Amino acid sequence: MDLELSAEDLAFRDAVRAFIDANLTPQLREAGRRMTSVFCDKAHSLAWQRILAAQGWAAPTWPVEHGGPGWSEIQRHVFFAECARAGAPGLAPMGLRMVAPAIMRFGTDEQKARYLPRILSGEDYWCQGYSEPGAGSDLASLQMKAVADGDDYVLNGSKIWTTHAHWATHMFCLVRTSTEGKPQAGITFLLVEMDRPGIRVDPIITMAGEHEVNQVLFDDVRTPRADRLGEEDQGWTVAKHLLEFERGGGYAAGLEAGLERLRGQVEPEDPDHRRRLAEAQIAALAIDVTERRVLSAFASGANPGPASSILKAQGSEALQRQDELALDALGGYAAVHQPKAREAGSNEAFVGPETGLTTTARYLNNRAASIYGGSNEIQRDIIARLVLGL
Ligand SMILES: Cc1cc2nc3c(=O)[nH]c(=O)nc-3n(C[C@H](O)[C@H](O)[C@H](O)COP(=O)(O)OP(=O)(O)OC[C@H]3O[C@@H](n4cnc5c(N)ncnc54)[C@H](O)[C@@H]3O)c2cc1C
Repeated sequence: MDLELSAEDLAFRDAVRAFIDANLTPQLREAGRRMTSVFCDKAHSLAWQRILAAQGWAAPTWPVEHGGPGWSEIQRHVFFAECARAGAPGLAPMGLRMVAPAIMRFGTDEQKARYLPRILSGEDYWCQGYSEPGAGSDLASLQMKAVADGDDYVLNGSKIWTTHAHWATHMFCLVRTSTEGKPQAGITFLLVEMDRPGIRVDPIITMAGEHEVNQVLFDDVRTPRADRLGEEDQGWTVAKHLLEFERGGGYAAGLEAGLERLRGQVEPEDPDHRRRLAEAQIAALAIDVTERRVLSAFASGANPGPASSILKAQGSEALQRQDELALDALGGYAAVHQPKAREAGSNEAFVGPETGLTTTARYLNNRAASIYGGSNEIQRDIIARLVLGL
């Protein structure tokens, strides 16, 4: 694979760079700089998404017929790298990168027409209801019940660790419609509006002191059967397809931006820091190449397959190693706890170097990167079975 950009790709990169320079406002840059996980808050993330959507750039991986820009795999890669380099707020993946490809693949024409434009414009904001208190890695053991009643399903049960459920207008979720046969056989995939009576969202505060995840409780919630994606009891197929998109992509640009931050943080005279920085650079390059392979799978219309598991495991661990190095380089200032100072728009003075503003929170939040989206032990299991044939 040729890692050099052609003259045409360089011209594309310059055009993207110029657009970002002209449109990424100081407030949005600040919000991006203060991100302490892969997620930005809804207001800033959507503000940036709307700017990109007006330019036709909000969904680089979507096909043109649904509003994608028709870029090549390299162009998409360049675009993500430029956004990360500029410190743009991250766009929430649950709509654009997770449920949208599933709707394109499994949705009816009516569902495509109803949901996709609103995901692109940011009118609808999605969360993912897969995990339950008793079902994480062993997702097929999920228990949340959906019982058909006339034109509706009636939902009872609970979802947990639901990122941004407190901001979401919609949830895509897995529910149990049958207990016959294998556990995977009785699962159905539903698209649920979050303002339906009987839904309660309880916050879970992370060890970084932030509200990103929630428990969502369903008490006799009625939702139309027409809002099912795919066939009843066939939701596992949809769920697996979607997970490959969740795991595939999105690390290289962030790692490159992290390296840029690290270069300003580590002590150049310290041989241990120098070695770890070099290792971080090598890891970022290897992930960059793997990500391009996954992007080419997207480009040819295929799903990325087990390569996305390799990327998930390696990308999340490289991210965590970068965080550890940044934390070590910060020394005693890593202990400073000033959550208010890192809120976008805050003018509270921060104790320690400016580069340390988000270091500790980022370190704490990114511990979850090797758990969410399927833990890395599970990814290794997939790699062992599907890639190595063990
Ligand atoms: C910050 C954060 C955000 C999240 N966001 C969402 C979200 O938006 N929507 C959603 O649905 N879920 C979300 N999750 C949930 C996430 O997908 C689960 O936490 C994950 O799948 C692991 O499940 P669990 O927490 O139940 O752990 P468990 O499955 O109980 O696992 C506990 C430990 O055992 C290991 N383990 C389990 N089974 C095996 C095995 N077969 N072989 C080897 N080791 C094994 C695991 O790797 C882990 O280390 C989020 C989680 C976090 C931390």
